[in-house]
Amino acid sequence: MWKCLTYIVLIMQAGITYAAPITLASGGKTSYRIIVPAIESPFAGQAASALKKYLQQITGANFEVSNDATTPGKFEILIGATNRGLHAEGLTGMPGTFSIRTVGDKLQFSGLEKGLLYSVYSFLEKYAGCRKFAADQTYVPKVPNFKIGDINFTESPIAKFRGLHYPGPESDQEFLDWHKLQRIDDVWGLWGHTFFKLVPPSKYFDAHPEYYSLVNEKRIPTQLCLTEPAVADITIQSLEEAMANDPDKIYWSVSQNDGGGQCMCARCTALNNKYGADQGSLLTFVNKIAARFPAKKIVTLAYGYSRKPPVGLEPSDNVVVMLAPIEVSRLRSFAVDPRSAGFRADLEGWRSAGAWLMYWDYVAQFTNYQSPFPNINTLRPNFDYLLKTHPEGMFIQGSGEQRSDFSELRTYMLAKMLSEPGADTRKIETEFVNAYYGPAAKVIHSYLRELQENASKFNVRLDIYDNPVIPYRTYLQTVDLLKYTSAIEGALKLVKDNAVMKKRVEQVLLPLQFALLQQARFYGIENNGVFVHADNKWTVRPEIKKLLTDFEVHAFNTGTDQLNEDGLKLESYLAEWRQHLAAG
Ligand SMILES: [Zn+2]
Repeated sequence: MWKCLTYIVLIMQAGITYAAPITLASGGKTSYRIIVPAIESPFAGQAASALKKYLQQITGANFEVSNDATTPGKFEILIGATNRGLHAEGLTGMPGTFSIRTVGDKLQFSGLEKGLLYSVYSFLEKYAGCRKFAADQTYVPKVPNFKIGDINFTESPIAKFRGLHYPGPESDQEFLDWHKLQRIDDVWGLWGHTFFKLVPPSKYFDAHPEYYSLVNEKRIPTQLCLTEPAVADITIQSLEEAMANDPDKIYWSVSQNDGGGQCMCARCTALNNKYGADQGSLLTFVNKIAARFPAKKIVTLAYGYSRKPPVGLEPSDNVVVMLAPIEVSRLRSFAVDPRSAGFRADLEGWRSAGAWLMYWDYVAQFTNYQSPFPNINTLRPNFDYLLKTHPEGMFIQGSGEQRSDFSELRTYMLAKMLSEPGADTRKIETEFVNAYYGPAAKVIHSYLRELQENASKFNVRLDIYDNPVIPYRTYLQTVDLLKYTSAIEGALKLVKDNAVMKKRVEQVLLPLQFALLQQARFYGIENNGVFVHADNKWTVRPEIKKLLTDFEVHAFNTGTDQLNEDGLKLESYLAEWRQHLAAG
C-alpha cells in the first residue's frame, strides 16, 4: 500500500507546484459550491452527486449543490452547461468525450452525453488520486487541504462501445461509470449470435427447411441459407419489429450462430467461391439487410468459419465487422506470435476491404475458470494491436458473472485499458496488487512474475479451452505448482487476521490447488497421483485428501460455485472426486 500512497502524495505535490492553485478545501472546509443547470440536463445531477460524495470523503468538507438560478459566486464548480458561460461549447467527438478546465477560480466539467459523468470520475482519478480498484474497493486519499493547479484536459473514449464481461462490471454501476464501460444492453438491440433469433427454426424449419443450411445434401438447422430470398425478408421483418420496440439502440447484430454448419447449397457456394471466403454469401446478405436500415449499425461477426475476409466485396458503410480471435494462442501476444499470423492476415484483409471494425476478444480459460492462465502479459500488447485500427468497439470477454484466475486483477487492468488511452499497465498492475492484497502483495507480485516468466520459456500453445493437465511438462509442472502453492499459503498467513484480504488470497490459491488436483487424477497411481500402494493395497495419498479438503474450504470461503463456462458446479465437481476416491 505504501507505494500507492507515495504515488498519490507525488500527484498532490505536483498539483501544488502549479502557478495559480485553486484551493478547493482548506482545513476540511470549503468555500466552493457545485453548480448544476436549473433546466433538466442529462447526467448533471449524477455527476454533481458523485463529485460531492467524493470531495467530501477526500477533504471532509461539505460541498453544497445548487442550481444556476442562484446568485453567482466567486467559488464555483460548474457541472455542464450552466448559465455561467464557461461550458466547453466547442467540445466535439464521440459520445463520452469530456473536458475538465479551470477558468480563474472556477472549475468547469463538460461532457458529451455521459461524458459529463466521466469528467468527474476522471478528475477524481487524475487530480485527486482516487482509485476504483473493484466493486468492493475504492481508494480515497484524505486531503483536508486540497489544491489543484491549472487544468485544461480533454479526452475521448477509446471506442464508441466498451464492454467488459467480468463480475465487477456486471454487477456494479459505479465501477462501470467510473471506468467508462457500458453494458451490452445500454447500446445493443441485438447482441451476439443472432441467426436463430431472427429466423427461429422452431417457427420455420418444419414448413421451410430450405431457409436453413444445406449440409451433405440435407437441410439442417445449424445456420441460415443466406441466398434464400425469404430468409432476407424474414430477417428484415424481425429487425423492424425489434427496432420498433427498442428505437434508441444503435447496434444490431446479424451474425452467424456459434459453431459451423454453414450452407453449402449451389447459390451460397457460388458466392463463397466468387469472393474467396464463406463471407461471400454472408456479407452479401448482411449488406442487403443493412441497406434497409441506414440509420442503424448492423454488426456481423467474423468468427470461426467466417473470420476470413472476402476479396472484392466490401462491407456497406453502416455494417460493422466484429472480429473475434477465439482460436489464437494466448501465451504470446497475437500482435507478434507466429502462431497468430493467420489472424493478423485476416485483420489486415478486413482493413483493406475498408471495414469498420469492432473486436470481441477473450481473456479467461473458459473450460477451467479455476486454472492458472498465464496470459496477463499479453493483455496490453493485444489490446494495443487492436486499438491501432481505431475500432468502433471493444468487447473483452472474461468469465462473465463467475470468478476465475485473477479475475479481479484482470478486470481492473482491462477496465483501465478500456477507459484511459495509453494507461501504463505495469503501474496499474502494481497499484492494484499493493492495494488489493495488502501485506500479501509482495508474494503475489512474485508469483505473478514467476508464472509468466516460466510460461514464456516454453513455445507451446495456450488456449482458452485448455486444461491444467495439458501443460504438465511445460509451464504447469507439479513441482512448480507445489512451489507456488506453498508461497501463496505463506501469504495467507500474512493476512490471516484480515477477513477481506484473506478471502482475496484464498482466491489466488484456488487455481493452484485446482491444477494440482486435476494433475493428481491424471497421474493416478504414478508419482504425484491420487493413489499410493502400501501393505498390498491402494490407498488415497494423504496429501490429496488434505488438498481436496483445503480446496473445498477455500472455494466455500470465496463463494466460488461455478468452475467453467458450461456451468459445472463446485458441488458436482466435489461429488465426482468423492466417487473417484471411493472407487479407488
Ligand atoms: Zn444456401
